[in-house]
Amino acid sequence: MNYPQLDIYVNKIEENAAKLKEKLEAKNIKLTAVVKGLAGDTNVFKAYQQAGVGSIADSRIENIIKFREVGYQGEALMLRIPMASEVEEIVRYTDVSLVTELKIAELISKEAQRVDKKIDLIVMVDIGDRREGILAADLADLALKIEEMPNVIMKGIGTNLGCFAGIIPDENNTKKLINIKKELETKLGRSLEILSAGNTAALRLLENDYLAAEISNLRVGEAVLLGTDIINESLIEGFNHYNFHLKAEIIELKEKPSNPEGEMAFGGQGRGQIIADKGLRQRAILAVGKQDIDYHGLYPELEGVEVLGCSSDHLITDVTEAAGKLEVGDILNFKINYSAMLRAMTSQYVTKNYIE
Ligand SMILES: *Cc1c(COP(=O)(O)O)cnc(C)c1O
Repeated sequence: MNYPQLDIYVNKIEENAAKLKEKLEAKNIKLTAVVKGLAGDTNVFKAYQQAGVGSIADSRIENIIKFREVGYQGEALMLRIPMASEVEEIVRYTDVSLVTELKIAELISKEAQRVDKKIDLIVMVDIGDRREGILAADLADLALKIEEMPNVIMKGIGTNLGCFAGIIPDENNTKKLINIKKELETKLGRSLEILSAGNTAALRLLENDYLAAEISNLRVGEAVLLGTDIINESLIEGFNHYNFHLKAEIIELKEKPSNPEGEMAFGGQGRGQIIADKGLRQRAILAVGKQDIDYHGLYPELEGVEVLGCSSDHLITDVTEAAGKLEVGDILNFKINYSAMLRAMTSQYVTKNYIE
């Protein structure tokens, strides 16, 4: 086996997907499984198919095309608001798109007319996180224009929180969204089928019956893949946790002074990795780097291992507390968070090992 290696517990991801689907269905909410963390890996995607998930979302059209090629026929939602340059493929391979721009909605409508297809649109509203989304004051104008366009259907509105500013989805901002939808329905003179909420951090809102009744669709990635909720800093009860484990090999193991020596670049700040002078420490360098993982998201399984930092191809750890047990050539295991998982899935240098 080549290292670094990623053990992927496909079986546990499938269990999580099935459990979440059932949990949401009991509240009349459709699960849209967000699979953008897989980098288009069809072996892991199988977990969702076997769990009977009928709606998936990805932010890269290339990935959706791969899933179609292995026979996925359910609903595919374009999660990242589209680039003008990919509209043709979006119309061809997806059923629903999140939008915020009039120009993009027009392009989708035009292309959908050309190929004689209908595409559902969900307009994203920014209620505070300041990533994608139209401001509430401008929503009706866009929605009324979409309403007039051929071959696209104004299905509803959605929002995303937590991803840029780190705003937590809560009762307050979700009630705001519900009211925005109601006002829009009055202006359109009809009801809208979809209130699409996300993401994993929004799951806990469903404990509130009023919110659960108003939300029709939940876009969830992390809860299924990792069983964690980064925004609320918690593990999700009843789910399988940390279903991806990274294994990396020790290529250097030496006692070294913890403090660097010499003149520091960047105005004396160096790379900001300096820690307190702890004297001589046992350091292990592992053959994995920024190309493969986000080192902030590595949780060593062996007690006494501390991750210090990372360059493109080297991971630097302090193993003083675990030293007696280690040798060059040994493999260290890490549980990983979403960001590290995303990069490991994307890196062609990380060998994928599927546990089914
Ligand atoms: C990534 C993403 C999600 C899913 O987020 P998780 O935290 O992984 O559940 C939902 N909606 C949008 C728009 C996203 O970009």
